[in-house]
Amino acid sequence: MECTYCGLPVEDHDPLYLSTAPESEPTAQFCNYGCLATYIDEEELTTGTACSWSPE
Ligand SMILES: [Zn+2]
Repeated sequence: MECTYCGLPVEDHDPLYLSTAPESEPTAQFCNYGCLATYIDEEELTTGTACSWSPE
């Protein structure tokens, strides 16, 4: 499978898979934490989504 962020084959690295449920097919996959972290950062996926975050 291709890395969701960089498009390289994830099997060549230390792959991570992202799915919405434990039994479901992965919706995204990444070479390693570097690609995952950069993808999250660039897509701003964590903005306002932390479960325990509150504006003080
Ligand atoms: Zn990658």
